[in-house]
Amino acid sequence: MKNIIFIAPPAAGKGTMSELLIEKYGYIHISTGDILRGIAKSGTELGNKIAALLEGGKLISDEIVYDAVRERLRMPDLDNGYILDGFPRNLNQAEEYDKILKEVNRNLGVVIYLDTPKDILEKRITGRRLCENCGATYNVLTGVNTPHVEGKCDKCGGNLYQRSDDNSESFAVRYQEFIEKTYPLVEYYKKNNVLVSIDSVDPDLTIKAIEGVIND
Ligand code: AMP
Repeated sequence: MKNIIFIAPPAAGKGTMSELLIEKYGYIHISTGDILRGIAKSGTELGNKIAALLEGGKLISDEIVYDAVRERLRMPDLDNGYILDGFPRNLNQAEEYDKILKEVNRNLGVVIYLDTPKDILEKRITGRRLCENCGATYNVLTGVNTPHVEGKCDKCGGNLYQRSDDNSESFAVRYQEFIEKTYPLVEYYKKNNVLVSIDSVDPDLTIKAIEGVIND
């Protein structure tokens, strides 16, 4: 299968699409956040340094991220295809990723931009409700996955609540960060002829379009 990089604003459906692809095609999920959290727990000098940075919400230096990605990409379990999550985050990282790929002898694959209107993204986040009992998720604004009884979980009857960071202000910050730092990758990969833009409003249509691209 073709390797995949998703470029996706917050709540565009990257997590959902990744899960479907992992289940159906056996893709391996590589998350730089997970890798860094793993090193942070290792108790080594580097691990302790990373743990302190993650805790303070600080950026991890590019060099550390590059080493972690390079090491992960050398492992043989990725030969049938992987989804890269959280990397590259900006243009510098995209350029370095091209070099790393050459070093580890792997292909970039396809870059999928999950194109979703901002107002829908905002509704997905501010309308999200979770069951305090079983963790099931719902949405009270998008019309998709609305709970049948207001404030109650369809599955177990538990009370629904809203996560404190699922608000318009934090959405605006995350969206702005995406536009400034990550969106420029769309142009970068377009120039390299590896970008596919897919409409990510209806999940059934989105997964079909993605399957068309990776099976191509
Ligand atoms: P995530 O799980 O993707 O939200 O990442 C968690 C944290 O790991 C981020 O807040 C960053 O501190 C760090 N991180 C993950 N990916 C990268 C990256 N590509 N470049 C720099 N820092 C990263």
